[in-house]
Amino acid sequence: MSDSIVYNIPITMIEAYRGRTLVVRSHDPSMIVQRLAGHDLEMVEYLQVPVTGGDIDSLLHWEHAVPVDLVIHNPEADLPLLYRYSAMQAARPVRVSVPVAPGFSKVVKLALSLDFAVKLEFSQPGPALTEELLRVADLYLHQSTVSQPVEFIHSMFLAFYKGDPVALWIVQEEDPARMRYITARGIETISRRFAGVELNEALPSFIENYIEGLIKEEGGECNDCEFFDSCLGYFKWPRKEYLCEGVKALFQRLKEAAEELKADLSSFHSPKGENRS
Ligand code: SF4
Repeated sequence: MSDSIVYNIPITMIEAYRGRTLVVRSHDPSMIVQRLAGHDLEMVEYLQVPVTGGDIDSLLHWEHAVPVDLVIHNPEADLPLLYRYSAMQAARPVRVSVPVAPGFSKVVKLALSLDFAVKLEFSQPGPALTEELLRVADLYLHQSTVSQPVEFIHSMFLAFYKGDPVALWIVQEEDPARMRYITARGIETISRRFAGVELNEALPSFIENYIEGLIKEEGGECNDCEFFDSCLGYFKWPRKEYLCEGVKALFQRLKEAAEELKADLSSFHSPKGENRS
């Protein structure tokens, strides 16, 4: 095991992973506070708790500024629970991880209004959800009051702006060369959505082998996709037959917005008279 890997573990395994860089999770926020007493918090990248977590008082008043990732399971039902955490942002960075499922855009709006960062968690969104994604992208790109990132929209937009691809597997914290998810049974896998999935290849080479399979696939959609350099087939898992029309529309929207911004900035910085007819 490489020491540079970050392990996402249940708090009950804290002793076994002492000395590693960690994300620590629990359904019970007060248990995290208790069990981390005496541990080197420098090694904890962030805590992960469900937004439905029971007793949050001890976490709200915890003196250590370790970032917190609030996990949403059901966007429509969990939405109002976000308000319980509104005071937390003053003490530590807060991010909301929300699945792209019906109602997720309301969670994004509320999270941003509470000044929380957002991470969108994907499977393979259908047409209605990709429409909702486009609306969220527009909100992120054009709403001047938004001051926190919405991932992966933020990183993809920057990648297009800089002309420097960014690997979506890394942005989504699903690159096993950097991060591992340890299930409640102690099984090492890629991320929460891979829990219970039997992977036939070794974890470190999973993405490489997966990508190779996609590229070799005759007539495969990834073969001539202009977004492959960043996406790396991310949306072809778990079903390779998933059609990416909606996702590609989202990438296109981000690319166009980045190009518009570049054009605006270059015209702004041009000497007087240049770029003007
Ligand atoms: S958007 Fe779809 S087709 Fe394009 S690289 Fe990603 S998974 Fe492949």
